[in-house]
Amino acid sequence: MLSIHTFTFNPFSENTYVVFDETKEAIIIDPGCYSREEQKELVSFVETHQLKVKYILNTHGHIDHVLGNDFSKDKFKAPLAISKLDEATTRSVKTYAPLYGFDAYREAEPDMFLLEGDTISFGNTSWSILFLPGHSAGHIGFYDEKEKVIFSGDVLFEQSIGRTDLPGGNFETLIQSIHQKLFTLPDEVVVYPGHGDPTTTGEEKISNPFCAISLIK
Ligand SMILES: [Zn+2]
Repeated sequence: MLSIHTFTFNPFSENTYVVFDETKEAIIIDPGCYSREEQKELVSFVETHQLKVKYILNTHGHIDHVLGNDFSKDKFKAPLAISKLDEATTRSVKTYAPLYGFDAYREAEPDMFLLEGDTISFGNTSWSILFLPGHSAGHIGFYDEKEKVIFSGDVLFEQSIGRTDLPGGNFETLIQSIHQKLFTLPDEVVVYPGHGDPTTTGEEKISNPFCAISLIK
């Protein structure tokens, strides 16, 4: 049984997830904490629940999803795993972070690189890696087939989709990722996105104004 806790961090209102199972082994997805208060909030949750952080994962390398990588690695002594194909996106953050006012940003060295078909295991839980490009060139998602949940970053949102105007973004590729990957999962799969509330693949398949299957020509 998975426990999923959502934090909304940094000025981009980015969702950081702490996920753990009955063993108390945990994963942190996209640590976006930047301010001292946000860092404290994350640490206090992990400590209160006595979690052992096994991995820190990034769905993709945009600034709002990686601001807390360095802090989390250092604090929880857990390896950072990122998408091999999004490494360049991740590494570019240090060049523009000061322009956004994040002068304290420090790049964290990735410890593992993930590709589609890989699995990430913690406790009694195993996730498969799905390649979901379009919002960024190497975007990935983490799918728990048993629990029917996916953490899919900025690909599919409730009634919306990820933006495709940033470097590495491509609208057709994003729509393909949604149709060929996310919409082929069972309808009851709960989608935990990088921003906003959770939704389900079934709901978005019917009613999403950008990518519902009725829109396919
Ligand atoms: Zn993004």
